[in-house]
Amino acid sequence: MDHITIRAIKKASSSPCRYKIAAIGFNRKNEVIGIAYNTPRFSREGGSIHAEINLLKKCGKKLYSVMILRIGGSGNILPIDPCENCRAALQGIRIFKHRPYKKETIRKRRNI
Ligand SMILES: [Zn+2]
Repeated sequence: MDHITIRAIKKASSSPCRYKIAAIGFNRKNEVIGIAYNTPRFSREGGSIHAEINLLKKCGKKLYSVMILRIGGSGNILPIDPCENCRAALQGIRIFKHRPYKKETIRKRRNI
């Protein structure tokens, strides 16, 4: 497993929420600039503040793309899709599902 995935799994496992999600933020050079998990929201509706939103608060305008990862009870990676609210809040920032981190591959692809 690549080191970014391991970091994301560790971060997600620290989340106090039932659904454990981590968001990793990258800058334009595809370097990690921040990592966050989802946190409980204490309102009538319940639910949580999504990891993407917590990441946006941390990193702000430096964010170029965001990878999200969800884990199950035993640390296994589960499927996840970014929600409409996060897509809207992170307008202009690419949100994508977990995939193994390959810095050079992503760089090359962008140069085409
Ligand atoms: Zn969301």
